Amino acid sequence: MGADLKAFAKLKTELEHYGANLVAVSKTKTAEDIRMLYNAGQRAFGENYVQEMVAKAAELPKDVQWHFIGHLQSNKVKYIAEFVHLIQSVDSFKLLKEINKQAEKADRKIKCLLQVHIALEETKFGLDERELAEIIDHAPALQNVAIAGLMGMASFSKDESQVAKEFESLNVLLNKHFSFFQKYIPEPVLSMGMSGDYQLALKHGSNLVRIGSLLFGSRNG
Ligand SMILES: *Cc1c(COP(=O)(O)O)cnc(C)c1O
Repeated sequence: MGADLKAFAKLKTELEHYGANLVAVSKTKTAEDIRMLYNAGQRAFGENYVQEMVAKAAELPKDVQWHFIGHLQSNKVKYIAEFVHLIQSVDSFKLLKEINKQAEKADRKIKCLLQVHIALEETKFGLDERELAEIIDHAPALQNVAIAGLMGMASFSKDESQVAKEFESLNVLLNKHFSFFQKYIPEPVLSMGMSGDYQLALKHGSNLVRIGSLLFGSRNG
């Protein structure tokens, strides 16, 4: 229960060294758990489920920056369009078009990352390289989204060289499309690294880590 403020302080120091930012992944955690980190200065929180994010957003201060990091169904975009800070998990052009449409309705521009499939496991969502290039080709027609960079999840593996290779492949892709992202944002975002592998991710160019269990303890479900 609660949040580990010691682990939070240590992590912040580590990230500072790399100039990287933190999304505290609060899925399954309560608004009170989140408030502990909020009171310690954390503003960016990540959620995987629309309902859960909507409920917590209603309970917590307005300056929380909500990051959506789970698989997002097009028909649910409308519930988060008014307040979401960054949708990290865009994995189809269809979804991007729907985000654009709902952003227009909400009279805002929504920041997005394109999620790339870099892991060995088939179960993880994300675009392959060809799909990524295709979205990048078609995205300029969408006026209400800002495509700020890439997100990826590495294999759940103890094989560090495999995980490092996957992070590096995402870093290479970001650099390949760097000038495209720079049309939207001065410093493109490379979101990679979780509790178990963030140090490796930082070494391979991550500037945004998504960390849950290290800060909140392990989840049950
Ligand atoms: C749950 C989750 C995380 C955080 O995982 P931890 O291992 O708890 O740090 C990061 N990214 C995504 C996409 C997640 O679903």
